[in-house]
Amino acid sequence: MNTTASQFHIFPGAVHIHTTFSDGTGNIDQITKAAKKAGLKWVIITDHNNTDIEEGFYNGICVIKGEEISPEASDHYIALDIKNTIIPDKGIKNSVHEVRNQGGFGYAAHPDESDTRKNNASPICWTDKSVIPDGIEIWNWFSDWADNYDSSNIFKIAYAYFFKHKIIKGPHTETLKWWDDLSKVYPCILAIGGVDAHALKISKYLIPVTIFPYKDMFNTIVNYFILEESVPESFEEQKNLILNLLKRGKNIIINRAVKNIYPLIYKNDNYLTVKLFCRAEIRIIHNGDIIFQKRTDNLSYELEPDKKYRIEIYLNNTSWLYTNFISL
Ligand SMILES: [Zn+2]
Ligand SMILES: [Zn+2]
Repeated sequence: MNTTASQFHIFPGAVHIHTTFSDGTGNIDQITKAAKKAGLKWVIITDHNNTDIEEGFYNGICVIKGEEISPEASDHYIALDIKNTIIPDKGIKNSVHEVRNQGGFGYAAHPDESDTRKNNASPICWTDKSVIPDGIEIWNWFSDWADNYDSSNIFKIAYAYFFKHKIIKGPHTETLKWWDDLSKVYPCILAIGGVDAHALKISKYLIPVTIFPYKDMFNTIVNYFILEESVPESFEEQKNLILNLLKRGKNIIINRAVKNIYPLIYKNDNYLTVKLFCRAEIRIIHNGDIIFQKRTDNLSYELEPDKKYRIEIYLNNTSWLYTNFISL
C-alpha cells in the first residue's frame, strides 16, 4: 500500500450514551445536535437494559443502538449488534453468551472502577475475570472522573466540576493488564473508549445545572476510524461499516479534551506509520511490555510477522490515545 496522509478519511463517533430511555436526560434529537456540534459522525446509544431507541440518521448523525446490560451492582456489559433486549438477571456469563447467541459482540464496561473513591458513588466492576468478554471498555470518561472526584470539601467539589478535565487520569493499569494478559491467549480481544454520557441535572450547592452536557462529553473520549475510502451514504451501509470496523478492532480511542486532533496511524508494507501533527510520547506495547518509546511527531516502525502490537500516546505525561492490537 502506498499512501499519503491526505487520502484518508477520519470517521469519529462516540460510544456509551444514555438517553431518557434509561437514566440520561436527553432525547435523540438533543444528543445528535450535540454530536454534530462536536464534529462527530456517529453515536452508539447504550441505555441500561433498554433498546427502545429508533436507529437511523438524525441531524446528519448515524445513530446505532446497543444496550448496556446492567445488573444492579456490578458487571455492566455493552452489547452491540443484538436483536433483542437482554435482561440482566441471569448473571455475567449469560450476558456474554446471550450477546454471542444473538450474533452480537460486547465489551465489559468500566471493569475496574476504584474502590478507594473519595465520594459516595459506589464502584461498579467486572467481578469475575474468568468470564471473558469479546472486548473491554478500556477507558470510560465518566468512571475516570468519578474515580478521581473528591467530595470531601466544597473546594475539591468545585475543582472537580469546573476543571473536570484536569482530574481525568487515563485507563486503569489493572484494565490494561487484563486486556494484555487476555490478548496473549485469545486472538482478538477488542477495546473501546466510552463517554458514559448522561447529561445529569443537579441543583445541589449551585443553581440547577446540567453537569457534563452531551456536547462536552463528545469532546472527550471518542473512537475514530481512518478510512481509505469515503463513507457510504445509506444508513444500513454506514451502520454495517461501523459495527464491522469495531468488530475487527479498527477503532482508535482518543481523549479530545487533551488535544483535539486525530493522529494518523496506518500500516505501509511492513511498517507502521504514526503521524501526530504535534510532538508526543509514543509507546509501542507487545505482550504487555513497552518495547519502544520515543517523543516525536512522526514515526515509522517495522513490524515483525506473528506479533501483536498496540500503541499508547501521551501528551505532556497525560493519557491521550490508545489503539487496538495491530499486526501485519
Ligand atoms: Zn455502567
Ligand atoms: Zn453507562
